[in-house]
Amino acid sequence: MGEVAEFRAEVAAWLQDNCPEGARGPGEIPNGSSKIELEPDTKRWLEACVERGYTAPTWPTEYGGGGLSPQFAKVLYEEMAAIKARSPLVGMGTAMIGPTLLEYGTEEQKQRHIPGIVRGEVQWCQGYSEPNAGSDLAALMTKAEDNGDHYVINGQKIWTSGAATADWMFILVRTDPDAPKHEGISFMLLTMDQPGVTTKPIRLISGSSPFCETFFDDAIAQKEDLVGELNKGWTVGKRLLQFERSGIGGLTGGARVADPSKSLIKAAKNYVGEADNGTIADDDLRNDVLDLNMQRTALNLTAKRVNEETKSGTPGAATSIFKIVGATLQRDTADLKRELMGFRGLGAHEEIGFTADELKATEEFLHLRTTTIYGGSSEIQANIIAKRVLGLPE
Ligand SMILES: Cc1cc2nc3c(=O)[nH]c(=O)nc-3n(C[C@H](O)[C@H](O)[C@H](O)COP(=O)(O)OP(=O)(O)OC[C@H]3O[C@@H](n4cnc5c(N)ncnc54)[C@H](O)[C@@H]3O)c2cc1C
Repeated sequence: MGEVAEFRAEVAAWLQDNCPEGARGPGEIPNGSSKIELEPDTKRWLEACVERGYTAPTWPTEYGGGGLSPQFAKVLYEEMAAIKARSPLVGMGTAMIGPTLLEYGTEEQKQRHIPGIVRGEVQWCQGYSEPNAGSDLAALMTKAEDNGDHYVINGQKIWTSGAATADWMFILVRTDPDAPKHEGISFMLLTMDQPGVTTKPIRLISGSSPFCETFFDDAIAQKEDLVGELNKGWTVGKRLLQFERSGIGGLTGGARVADPSKSLIKAAKNYVGEADNGTIADDDLRNDVLDLNMQRTALNLTAKRVNEETKSGTPGAATSIFKIVGATLQRDTADLKRELMGFRGLGAHEEIGFTADELKATEEFLHLRTTTIYGGSSEIQANIIAKRVLGLPE
């Protein structure tokens, strides 16, 4: 038996023994927050994966990662998918700040922050956007001033996902107000549980409040939590965005753009009807479902090719291509499902006869409108592709 086949057999047996039934199929996935109590099977599954380094399979073992090559990690993800095992851990720790610290952190910073991320003990949030700095992120005004052994932070962030439950934030702050705007920015880490940080949830049309306004009134970041050089944070911050966009575009690890065809076909058969031969009754809608599924397959195959070609991990500006295609696909899939369901895909109240599944579909439709905005809007990705990938003039 070859090395890969041997690993596949070993991992499949380990998964059978260690992935509890309650951690398979749809359900709770931890994000590391110390403020959220996990269900017993979710907790057991997280602990089993932590022990093997499977919450971050390709990261170095000295920080708690699995030390697997991308090829072996892919086998692990495939075997997890085969038994419908949920991700043991998600969030900005493993997807964004972890890989950034592995590239830009000092040895001391890696030792201090990465093991907590891999063990799922810390939830991170992202302090980038401000009321007057979204697409034009370098216009940010939140400032950090040197105060001996620490920085003092004042200002405001907005759209901070998960801020209400997060333990730590990575933040872009202005440290030199006189420098050109991209050159006076630094990248820091700070704890959310301190008197200088206040969060105010923003309620969304979908009913939930997944993000907040975050206010800093003499908040403190320790000097040892400056990542990269002072005033050179733009480079670090941009790299982190590439990791974020890789995740949204289905380029990283097991994060393939999910196969929506079963749920689309189910919606079509329930709400549009079935032809005598068992296919979706309406030819145009059947073509739309097929078309989306072909686009998804093409994107996943391209991601596979790029991953094999780059080997070293997430590419640079080209990640914007995956972000734009992956995000658009997710949004269009939700749009099509809503179209298939007709007005039943736009239910807002249980009391007027919408089922729980229908209300969930509405929530999903509204939520997936955001994929082409967060992590940098599609227009901004198109600008990056034009400038940095195609080399077109401004
Ligand atoms: C669900 C969700 C979660 C988020 N989570 C976070 C988070 O955790 N942390 C965080 O910091 N931020 C977060 N954001 C904020 C997100 O990064 C910003 O919304 C995004 O960068 C766009 O900025 P903006 O909202 O200020 O829009 P604006 O920058 O005001 O843009 C408005 C419109 O103008 C277009 N536009 C702007 N400039 C250009 C240009 N130069 N060329 C062409 N078109 C342009 C944009 O594409 C957009 O359509 C989140 C957003 C969403 C929706």
